[in-house]
Amino acid sequence: MRVLLAEDDAMIGASVRRGLAQDGFTVDWVQDGRAAELALAENVHDALLLDLGLPRKDGIELLTAMRKRGDGRPVLIMTARDAIADRVAGLDAGADDYVVKPFDLSELAARLRALLRRQSARAEPLLRFGDIELNPATREARVHGAPVALSARELALLEALLARPGAILSRAQLEDKLYGWSDPVESNAVEVHIHSLRRKLGADLIRNVRGVGWMVAKPDAVGASGQVPRSSA
Ligand code: CA
Repeated sequence: MRVLLAEDDAMIGASVRRGLAQDGFTVDWVQDGRAAELALAENVHDALLLDLGLPRKDGIELLTAMRKRGDGRPVLIMTARDAIADRVAGLDAGADDYVVKPFDLSELAARLRALLRRQSARAEPLLRFGDIELNPATREARVHGAPVALSARELALLEALLARPGAILSRAQLEDKLYGWSDPVESNAVEVHIHSLRRKLGADLIRNVRGVGWMVAKPDAVGASGQVPRSSA
């Protein structure tokens, strides 16, 4: 999952980016409110991690404008310990949750996963397809209960597809999930990772919709055997 981090404190920003990347998130970091607004307009991030005291455009102002234009992506605000009024203002402006500085990075990651789960109306923390399951918290994939070793990019790709069963994701959309601004995009990377996922997890998992993109079938389209009709490619 790709997260936009808006934080002007260099030390906090760097440690949050590093911590979330270790937890499997793709993180893009901006240091002022205007840059955050431009990044949000790209519409590639799944959630916003927002410091309220930002230069050039205040966090509350940014959040209020975001909600006003109908952007419902999850927002988690970061506030100082004694700033109760800020937390209240943030929540009332449309934030979904908050953390108090200094916060624990594993708790921050868990709160983000919870928000993303809620956003996709999913109560179950594990993502499943037939006998395949992915735990976004531990970054573990299993087939028939046995662990399967996947690379970070394979995990990110599998997570993006499993999180939206029935939706066809284009190459550009999948690249957006896999790569932050600072990552060079390898050519054919999506095809290579999909090929590898099919080899490790079974050819029926990911369907190719020729010329459009790739998808994982909705659970109700999966037969009792856990199999879906063979894809065309
Ligand atoms: Ca600040």
